[in-house]
Amino acid sequence: MAVAQAAALIRAGKLVAFPTETVYGLGADAADDRAVAAVFEAKGRPRFNPLIVHVAGREEAEALAAFDDRGRRLADRFWPGPLTLVLPRAPDSPVSLLASAGLDTLALRWPAHPLAAALIRAVGRPLVGPSANRSGRLSPTTAAHATAELGRHAAMVLDGGSCRLGLESTVIGLGEGLPVLLRPGALSVEAIESETGPLVEPALTVGEAARPSPGMLLRHYAPNSPLRMAAESALPGEAMLGFGALSGDLNLSPSADLAEAAANLFAMLRQLDGRGGIAVAPIPERNLGRAINDRLRRAALGSRKPTV
Ligand code: AMP
Ligand code: MG
Repeated sequence: MAVAQAAALIRAGKLVAFPTETVYGLGADAADDRAVAAVFEAKGRPRFNPLIVHVAGREEAEALAAFDDRGRRLADRFWPGPLTLVLPRAPDSPVSLLASAGLDTLALRWPAHPLAAALIRAVGRPLVGPSANRSGRLSPTTAAHATAELGRHAAMVLDGGSCRLGLESTVIGLGEGLPVLLRPGALSVEAIESETGPLVEPALTVGEAARPSPGMLLRHYAPNSPLRMAAESALPGEAMLGFGALSGDLNLSPSADLAEAAANLFAMLRQLDGRGGIAVAPIPERNLGRAINDRLRRAALGSRKPTV
């Protein structure tokens, strides 16, 4: 059966495009750093934007992130469905740090499409599932669209017909303070406000650059220690994060494999944080190297002076 085959592929670290009620997602094991890196590579994203983690049940969701009363009420009312909740990440969450782009929060959704839920249950683990299109292109709403976009990168495209909603999920941030509309989507703001009261809508009130998803959160990407890029060696007091032949305290990828480097990036930065500084070996500015350098540049800025 197609779902069992798709689940086996995902458990083996492969990518599978799958239908949801919103759009087709490019699915991978959310706990597998290498598979998550392959998702970014397949989409050709110039940046590591945090991905939505898909679950098929409340218990599973509550094991990954901290729900408060508002989160529980929204999940009771709208899950399964086109609502994504951004919540504080549980300290022992098995989800790849790359999936949440190094943030302390996690975006969670329980999709309503029966094939999506069946796939997640068959894998037995949460899945990342950004829209199954190349970066900057329209989200696919049929299996044929998904195949045309990313068929080359997906081991399989699970066909569930056309997506009922055809519009991405609404993303709500639940941190301290009022709930925030991080992305308008298929579930109406009015429906959400009937549960939570007024949402803060920065998407409508401030310019692109100041939006909190993920713009305002960029300082969270920064380690506490100052970070220095394109370093040939460590200065006294610095830890060295190597790449390829240029080794160090840790090495992002001894074989200079950019997908491996991406998979290790956030976990290794965390490991080296707290020393006098982090020197990072030069990373080539191509393929996933561009996204790695984008994050390193932001971390280098943020570690010295928090961004506004
Ligand atoms: P996509 O990957 O196309 O499904 O889009 C995911 C959306 O969720 C993007 O708008 C992200 O910025 C947003 N998102 C995912 N995780 C987070 C997070 N931890 N904090 C804020 N926004 C998030
Ligand atoms: Mg998308």
